[in-house]
Formats: sequence, C-alpha cells, structure tokens
Amino acid sequence: MGFLGKWVESLDYQYNITDACLMHRSPRASCTACVESCNYDALTFKNQKPVINSEKCVECGHCIAACPVQAIEGIIPKRNLSGNRLAADDASVPSLKELLVYHAKGITSIIASKGELSQAWKDQVCTVNSMLQQLDKNPFQVKVEEGFSEEMSSCTRRDLFSLLGKEGTSLVKQVTPAKWRFNHKSLDLSAYYPEYQFYELDVKLEKCSMCKACETLCPKQCFQITAQSFRIESQTCSGCQLCSRICPENAITVTDHISRAVTQTFDVYTKVCKVCKSSYQTCKPNYERCPVCARRKSGYLDSNVC
Ligand code: SF4
Ligand code: SF4
Repeated sequence: MGFLGKWVESLDYQYNITDACLMHRSPRASCTACVESCNYDALTFKNQKPVINSEKCVECGHCIAACPVQAIEGIIPKRNLSGNRLAADDASVPSLKELLVYHAKGITSIIASKGELSQAWKDQVCTVNSMLQQLDKNPFQVKVEEGFSEEMSSCTRRDLFSLLGKEGTSLVKQVTPAKWRFNHKSLDLSAYYPEYQFYELDVKLEKCSMCKACETLCPKQCFQITAQSFRIESQTCSGCQLCSRICPENAITVTDHISRAVTQTFDVYTKVCKVCKSSYQTCKPNYERCPVCARRKSGYLDSNVC
C-alpha cells in the first residue's frame, strides 16, 4: 500500500485558534487544555489567551484533540491505520476522545506490533473499553501482529506536501476516503453517540437567579431559558466547565459521567417582588423576593417576606 492510502487527513486547514476558544468567550474562563496537551511548549498564554508558536509547533494535533470546544482549527494526530486496525505506536497514545471517535468510525482492533502493548496503551485501552461498555458498544480487540507498525510508514502533513509536490493537494483529496479526513470539527463526541451524554449537568435551581449567563455563553447550547421553562440538555455538553465558572450564583456543577441522554425541563414563574415590586422570573414558586432583594440582609427592607 502506498502512503496515499494511509492516514492522511484534510489538507484544508492551517493550525489556528478561533474565537470559539473559551478564553476568548469570557475573562472568567480558565481552560488550559491545549497548553497542557502540548509536549513541545508551542502553546503559551498571551494576555490570558492561548497562542501557537509556529516555530515550535510540529503539527502533532494533540491540542486539537484536547480542546473541549473544537476551537483549534487543524487536523487531529496522525495515526497508523489499516482497515479496521489501529497500530499501537510507541510515539503517543491517543486520547480517550480520539479512541471513541475511531471506534464510532469502525476501528475495532488495536494492533501491538512488538509483542505487547506498552503500559500507557494498556491503561488507555482499559479505560476506553470501560467507557465503551457503558455506551453498550463492543470493546476494542487487542491483537499482536509483529511488524504491523513498521509496514506502515506514516507521514506528517509537511512530509506529504514535499513528497507530492505540485499535484499533492488535489490528488490526496481524491484518494483519501472521506471518513478519514478528520478535522477539528470531527472531535465532538456527542455527535457520534447521540443516545448518550458524557457529562452530567446539575443546576441548583434554588440558587439560580435566572441571569441567563449560562444560556448566553455555553458553546454547546445546553441551556434554554424562556418565560415558561428552563431546559437543560446534557447530551451535547463537552465538559468545558465554562458554565460552572461564569454562573454568578455557583449553581452549576458539571461532572464526568456517561449515561443515557436526559433532557431536564423546569417550570419558570413570573412573579412580582414583595419588597421592591419589580417583576422577575424564578424557578422557585414559593420565593417572594427578586434575586436583588433576596441578597439583602434579612430585615433590611421588609422582614416579613421569605
Ligand atoms: S448562570 Fe447560573 S444563575 Fe444564571 S441562569 Fe444560569 S444557572 Fe441561573
Ligand atoms: S453545559 Fe457547561 S460544561 Fe457543558 S458545554 Fe455548556 S458551558 Fe461547557
């Protein structure tokens, strides 16, 4: 098999951090996923926003896989694949998110080409197989095929350009199977497992002041607040934690937990505050004070309301 039939992805992108980055969306965000994922110190913070140093970047794609909101444009880490088999290369172990995407796209075997998997691979396969069990999917099969990895000389995106020369881009686009042309947008797990949620959203409604900050800033549109209802859709949540950081009432908790997708809907009531007489919305039918008056000390204006 020539190198064109191997793991080559979309050549349409240059590495770039977009405004979808959580650090661009809110000064209260504190995501460091991309910076922590880079083994080459190519990502640093400048004015609290991540920037890529192209001199140091080797285009490994680990930051793209790590970003919870697909804010880094580019192609995900190159892997050696053949048919439904993924080579367990020594170089790097795929993230759990990558492995779950590969599995959803039909990769079902992991090939150890040197007798057995490294401990890092064993740990990762064990964890992802446990997740697959929770998703009602068959686990990855681990097989030994001596020399499998060496047979498949992989190439970086830069290698591809130099090897292919002028005709490269269009030729690769023609021969690369569409399902393997991954880019950053392909790493949204919720799209591959629509019946499941990977995170549990817990909103303490007794704390919520209906400010709608979560609805406005959630990059996955998990919250919808209307005059009638507060809807929480956990299926699309990517666990970025932005909502829990920006909620002024500390009402939101996001935890890793795989389960069947659940949509929660709560009634919203429009009431008139007994203290300041202004109209306000709440999920608490028994409360009589608006959030502003409720924050004031008991007895400041009227001690006879709850
Ligand atoms: S950000 Fe917090 S207080 Fe504001 S609407 Fe969402 S849960 Fe309620
Ligand atoms: S619900 Fe919260 S943790 Fe989930 S994607 Fe939206 S902002 Fe991020």
